[in-house]
Amino acid sequence: MSTAGFNSQNGTGQGQAYANGPSQNPVALQQLPGVSYGMTHQPNYSPMQAKAPAPPGPGLYPSGPYQPVPPVSSYQPVPPVSSYQPVPPVSSYQPGPPLTSYPASPGQPLLTRPPMGGLPSHTPPQSASPSPGPRLPPAQATPPPPSVSSSSYYQNPQQPQPMAPSWQYNTAPPPMGPPASMSTPPRGPVANHVNPAVSSTAPPPPSSAVYTSAPPAHVSHSATQPPGPRMPPTSAHGYTQPGTVPPPMNPMAPHTYQPSRAPYGPPPTGPPPTMKATPPPTGPPMGNATPPPPKAVAGLPQPGPPGRHLGHYPSLPPGYQNTSTPHNTTSPMHPAMQAATQPYTQAPQPYQQPPGGPGPAQLSPSLAAMSLQSSTPEALRVVNLLQERNLLPPRPIPAPTPCLPQDLQKINCNPEVFRSTLTSIPQTQSLLNKAKMPLGLLLHPFKDLSQLPVVTSSTIVRCRSCRTYINPFVSFLDQRRWKCNLCYRVNDVPEEFMYNPVSRSYGEPHKRPEVQNATIEFIAPSEYMLRPPQPAVYLFVLDVSHNAVETGYLNVFCQSLLDNINALPGDSRTKVGFITFDSTIHFYNLQEGLSQPQMLIVSDIEDIFLPTPDSLLVNLNECKELVQDLLKSLPTLFEKTMETQSALGSALQAAFKLLSPTGGRMSVFQTQLPNLGVGALQSREDPNQRASAKDIQHLSPATDFYKKLALDCSGQQVAVDLFLLSSQYCDLASLGCISRYSAGSVYYYPSYHHQHNPAQVECFQKDLKRYITRKIGFEAVMRIRCTKGLSIHTFHGNFFVRSTDLLSLPNVNPDAGFAVQMSIEENLDDMQVVSFQAALLYTSSKGERRIRVHTLCLPVVNSLSDIFAGADVQAISGLLACMAVDRSVTASLSDARDAMTNAAIDSLTSYRQSVLTIQQPGLLAPACLRLFPLFILALLKQKSFRTGTSTRLDDRVFAMCQLKYQPLAYAMLMIHPSLYRIDDLTDEGALNISERTIPQPILLQLSVEKLSREAAFLMDAGTVMYLWIGRNCNPNFLSQVLGVPSYASVPDNLFMLPELDTAESQRTRAFIGWLRDQRPFFPSLRVIRDESQWKASFMQNMIEDRTESALSYYEFLLHLQQQISK
Ligand SMILES: [Zn+2]
Repeated sequence: MSTAGFNSQNGTGQGQAYANGPSQNPVALQQLPGVSYGMTHQPNYSPMQAKAPAPPGPGLYPSGPYQPVPPVSSYQPVPPVSSYQPVPPVSSYQPGPPLTSYPASPGQPLLTRPPMGGLPSHTPPQSASPSPGPRLPPAQATPPPPSVSSSSYYQNPQQPQPMAPSWQYNTAPPPMGPPASMSTPPRGPVANHVNPAVSSTAPPPPSSAVYTSAPPAHVSHSATQPPGPRMPPTSAHGYTQPGTVPPPMNPMAPHTYQPSRAPYGPPPTGPPPTMKATPPPTGPPMGNATPPPPKAVAGLPQPGPPGRHLGHYPSLPPGYQNTSTPHNTTSPMHPAMQAATQPYTQAPQPYQQPPGGPGPAQLSPSLAAMSLQSSTPEALRVVNLLQERNLLPPRPIPAPTPCLPQDLQKINCNPEVFRSTLTSIPQTQSLLNKAKMPLGLLLHPFKDLSQLPVVTSSTIVRCRSCRTYINPFVSFLDQRRWKCNLCYRVNDVPEEFMYNPVSRSYGEPHKRPEVQNATIEFIAPSEYMLRPPQPAVYLFVLDVSHNAVETGYLNVFCQSLLDNINALPGDSRTKVGFITFDSTIHFYNLQEGLSQPQMLIVSDIEDIFLPTPDSLLVNLNECKELVQDLLKSLPTLFEKTMETQSALGSALQAAFKLLSPTGGRMSVFQTQLPNLGVGALQSREDPNQRASAKDIQHLSPATDFYKKLALDCSGQQVAVDLFLLSSQYCDLASLGCISRYSAGSVYYYPSYHHQHNPAQVECFQKDLKRYITRKIGFEAVMRIRCTKGLSIHTFHGNFFVRSTDLLSLPNVNPDAGFAVQMSIEENLDDMQVVSFQAALLYTSSKGERRIRVHTLCLPVVNSLSDIFAGADVQAISGLLACMAVDRSVTASLSDARDAMTNAAIDSLTSYRQSVLTIQQPGLLAPACLRLFPLFILALLKQKSFRTGTSTRLDDRVFAMCQLKYQPLAYAMLMIHPSLYRIDDLTDEGALNISERTIPQPILLQLSVEKLSREAAFLMDAGTVMYLWIGRNCNPNFLSQVLGVPSYASVPDNLFMLPELDTAESQRTRAFIGWLRDQRPFFPSLRVIRDESQWKASFMQNMIEDRTESALSYYEFLLHLQQQISK
C-alpha cells in the first residue's frame, strides 16, 4: 500500500495517513475542528477529516508513534535464553554476559529517561501515550503567534482558475487520507522559541549596577577581540573592526544610518552618562499592542517638532526614510551581491520622501520612485528566444539584486543563504496570479559562513507580538521604541540594548550588531532551554550481511571514522555507539573498564530490546580506546559471513530505542533491500519499464513503516542519515522516508564496490570525511516568519512540519537546503517593503543553545513589469523542481512534466499580454527570464523527470530527493550542468585564491555543436564531472595533463588526473579542484572517450540537442511559441 509520497512537507499523497505537520497532533486538531490545518490550502480538508477512518492501532507498529517507552504490558518478559546467542563465534570477543545482566524484570522499562530537571509541569496533556518522564513540552504548550490566523489555512479566494494541468500557484495537492494517528504531540525544545511570555523586551528597571559593571553584552567572533585601540570599520560587518576615536555619546544625536560610522572608542570606564528615558515627542504610548494609527511617527524624533509623518506603517529604518541621495558607498559587498548588480543597467533608486510627508493617498509617488518605469532595465530587455542563439552568459548567473535603496540592499541577506523567486513582491495575490510565476523562498540556513557575527546577550530583543527578532529592517521611532517590520507592533527597547558593545557607548540602539547584520547568531540564555542542551550523540548502524561485506564499504567506513574520530564535533560529553545487523542485531558493549569490546547478539528481531541499555552508548573520551579497537576489528569480524538477510527495520527500531533518551544522530549504512522482519520490502522495479515513456510507478513508499519510525525519531530529537551503497534496487522511495521526515540526509552510491568502482570509493571516502567532521546542530527547530499579509504554505526539504511555520529538525547540517511556497493573503497596499525572517534554534555540538537568524527585505511593487523585472530565474526553476517532485508523486510524472512546461508557457504568455507594449513576432521573453525555457527543458530531461531514457528507479528517486534537499546552487548544477573547454586553459582572467591561479574558462551551451574532436571538455553536473576527450585531441593536452602519449592509450576507467609537473596539468587540476571546493559533497570525475560506458550519461546532459525521446531546445521553443500564440 502506498501511503506517503514525495510531496509537500510531510506528504499529502494518496491515501496518506499523515497529511501534514499538525495533523499528527490530535490536540491541535481538537482545538481547531474543521480547520484545514497545515499548508495545503485545501478547502475540503475538513470534511475528509471528519470521515477519516481510525488510525491503525499501535499493534501494527512495534515502535508506535510517540511511544518512546511502550506501556509496561507491552514489554516482553525476559526473553528466553535461547533467543540470545551469548557468545559470538569470534575468539577476539568476550563471551556474552550471563542472562542476569539483562533487564531483570519485564516491568522494568529499558529506556528509563533521566529526569531533565525542573520541567514536570510541561508534561504533554495526553494520556494515550505515557510520557517516559519529564520531557520537553509539546509545541502547543505555547500559543501560536497571534499573527497567524486560522483563515490563512484556507485557499485564497482570489485564486484564479488553474489551467489544468498547470500549477496552482497558491495551492498544494489535497490531502487524501485521514489525519495522522499520532497520539502524542511532538516534543522538542520549541516552546520558548515561540513563547510570547519569554524574553520580554520590556526594559529592566534602570539600575546603575548594570552600567558600572562590565558591559552588559559583548560581541564575540571566532576569536575574541582584545580591548584596546580599534580599527575603523571596513565592511558590512564593520562593527567587528573597531575604531580609534571615542564616539559621540550624545543620545540625542541624529539617528540616521551612517554608512561610514564614527570610529569606536575605548570602553567606558566609569558609569555611563546619566540617561533619562526621553519621552517621545509624539506617537502612540509605549507598549501599545496595536499597530499605531497612520500618523505614527516614522522619522526619528528630533528634539522639538515631531519628525516626518509618514503614511501607513513605515517600515524602513528612519535613516533611510530621510535619505535623499544614495550614499555612494564603496563598502565591500558580498561578491555575489556585487556581481548581482550587473543585470541592472540602472542603479536601485533611493526612497525619496517629499518634505511635507505624504499621507496614505500620497504614497504612490514614493512607490513610483522604487519602480523601474523610468527606463527599461536590462532585466526587461525584450529577447526573441528564437533568434538569439547564444543566451548563456559566459559566467555563472548571479542572483538578481532586489530593487532596494542601496543602504538597505547593502545589509540585506546574502542570496546564497536566503533568496526569493521574485525579488519584487507583488502587492496582491491577483497580481501574482497574473504574473503566473511561483512565489517562494529558497534557504540554506546553516551554510558554513566565513564570517558570522555572534552575540551573547542576556536579553534577545524580539517583538512582543509576533516574536520576530530585531533586525536591520525594523524602524526606531525613537531611542526607546522600535517598530516590528513584520507585524508593525511598537516595542520598547530594553535598557540593555541601549549599550552598543561595538562602539562601547550608550544610546545607539540602531547601531547594535543585531540591527546591522541580516545574518546573526545569538547564544541563547537559559530561557531558551527546556532541558539541559543535549550532548552530541552519534550512533552508527552498519549492514554486515554478506552483500555488505562483498562491497568492502566497512573498511572504508571504519578507517574513515578512525582517521577523523577526534574531529567529530562535540565536547567532553560526546557519546558514540555502534550497532551491526544482518538477520540479527548486534550490539557492542563499550563500557569503560572492559578490556575489549563485547558483542551482544539479539536474534529476536520481532520484538527488539536493548541487552545492556547503559553501556551501548558510551562517552567517547572515556572509551576511545575501546571504540578504536572495535573499528579496527569490525571489518574482519564478518569477513566470512554467509548471512544474506537484512533486518534493517529491527536494527532501526533498536537504534531508535538507544537514542531516544538523549536524541542524536543515527547514521545508517545499508547495501540491499531489507528482506526480514518489520519494514521488509520487495522489489517493485520492472527493469523493462526503465525506459518507459509512460508514467513511472512506485515513486511513493511501499510501506509507511519508515515514515512512522522517522516521526518517532523526530519526536525524540533523533535524525537518521542513510548511506545506501548498492548495485541492486533498494527501494529508496520507501527507505528514504526514514531520513526525509527526521531531517536527515540521504547518500547514494549505486554500484558501490571496493574494487570495481574506485571512483565511487573515492566519493564515499570524501563524503564520509565531510560528514563526520562537518558542523552539526542538534534538537533544532526553524521558524520562517514573514510580514503580515504574506503566508507560507508549502515546505520542501527534509524535516517534519510541526506547526504552520515551524519545522522540526532533530539535526541540522550545513549542507541542507529548504524551500517554501508563499501566497499573499492580504493586499500589501501600504507597504514599500516586506521582510522574511528565518530563525534556526539549535544546540551546538558544544552544548550551547544558539539561534541563527536571517532576515531578507524585498520591495513591494504594483505593476506586472516590475514583478517580471525582479524575477530570479534560477530560484523559480529550483522551486518549480521541488513542486514537480511533489506532483510526480501525488499525481503522475506526466502531470508534473506538463505542469513544468505550462509554467514556462504561462509566464511568457503573461509577459506578452500584460507587459509588452509593442507586439512583435517571435517567442519573446524579458532578459531576466531568457533562460527559463532552457531550464524547464533541462528539468524535463533531468534524471528525476525524464521519460523514454533508461533510468533506474532508485536513481530517479535519488535525483528527486536531491532536487528537494540540495541548496539552490548545487541543485542548479544538477539541472543544467556547466560545460567548459579545458584543453586550452590560460591564466587570462584567472582568479587568484591563496596563491593558486584558477583559470576561468567560459561556459558553453550544452550541445554537441560546441564539442570539437580536437579538444577536451569538462562537464560539471554537480555530483559528477565528465572529462570528455575528443578523438583527435590536442596531443599536448594528452601528454601534459593526462600523461598518456595518445588518445588510444587513455585508460578506460580513469577517474583521477595524474599530478604532473606541467603548467597544463596544474591549471587543469586547479580548476577542477576549485569547482570541487565550492560544494560540500565530492563530485567524482570520469574521463571518457567515445568507447566509454559513461559516454551516454555525458551525452544525455546535452540538453539543447534532440534525442529519440525528447525535443531539442529549438523544437521546445517552437512548441512554447505555438502554445503562447494560441
Ligand atoms: Zn512583530
